[in-house]
Amino acid sequence: MSDLAARLSAIDSQIADAARTAGRDAADITRIVVTKFHPASLVRELHALGVRDVGENRQQELEAKRAELETDSSQDAPALDGLRWHFIGQAQTNKAASIRRNADAVHSVDRIKLADSLHRVAGDAQQDVLDVLVQVNLTDDPGRGGVAPDEAQRLAEHILTLPSLRLRGVMGVAPLDEAPASAFARLHGVADGIRSLDASATWISAGMTGDFAEAIAAGATHLRIGSAITGPRPDRG
Ligand SMILES: *Cc1c(COP(=O)(O)O)cnc(C)c1O
Repeated sequence: MSDLAARLSAIDSQIADAARTAGRDAADITRIVVTKFHPASLVRELHALGVRDVGENRQQELEAKRAELETDSSQDAPALDGLRWHFIGQAQTNKAASIRRNADAVHSVDRIKLADSLHRVAGDAQQDVLDVLVQVNLTDDPGRGGVAPDEAQRLAEHILTLPSLRLRGVMGVAPLDEAPASAFARLHGVADGIRSLDASATWISAGMTGDFAEAIAAGATHLRIGSAITGPRPDRG
C-alpha cells in the first residue's frame, strides 16, 4: 500500500471510531480531502483511491488544477468521474465567476455581497444550483473569515432569496485558543437556527486534522482534512 493509501485508510478508521463513540453512522459523514498547495496529480491519486470530495482554499489554485486535470483527461488519463470540488477559502467577490465555474460547493460564504456575486454570475436560469454554506467566525477576531454568529441567520435568510444558490448549512474553523468542543458546540447552535429557516440546510462543515474527532462528536457532517491524509504541505513559496 502507498503511504497515501495508508494515511487515508488510517484516518477513515479514526473517523469510523469517532462516529461510533458519538453514536453516529459514519455514512452520514463526508470526508473532504484538502489538497491545497499539492499538485493536481495528488487529486488524481486520491480519486484512484476512491476519494470523491476534495477541498481547495484559493480560487487561482482551484481553477488551475481543474484546467490541468481536464486537459490531461482528454489525452491518456481517465476522467475523474464523480469528483466534487469544495471551495473552503476566503473568496473575493471579483473572483465569483471563477469560483462558481470551478466549485461544486462553496463553504465560505460570509457576507451578503459575496452571496450576491455568486448569484449574479450564474447566467441563465437553467444553470445548476450552487451549494453554499454560511461560514461562521468562531473567534472574537472580526478580521478572520466568517460572519459573526449573531449575523449568520440574516445572511442565511438572504441566501434563501437567491434562486441560483442552495443553502446547505454552516462551516466553521475552531479557534486556536479555545477547546474545539466548545467552539463546535457554538457552531451547532448556529446550525440549528439556520436549519429552522430551511429544513434541508443540514450540513455542518467542521473538523480538520487536529480536531475532527471533536467535530464528529459535535455533529459535523463534512470534515475538511488536509495534512493528516496528504502529508505535510509543500512550501507555498
Ligand atoms: C487547510 C484547511 C483545512 C485542512 O487543514 P489540515 O489541518 O491540514 O487538516 C481545513 N479547512 C480549511 C478552511 C483550510 O484552509
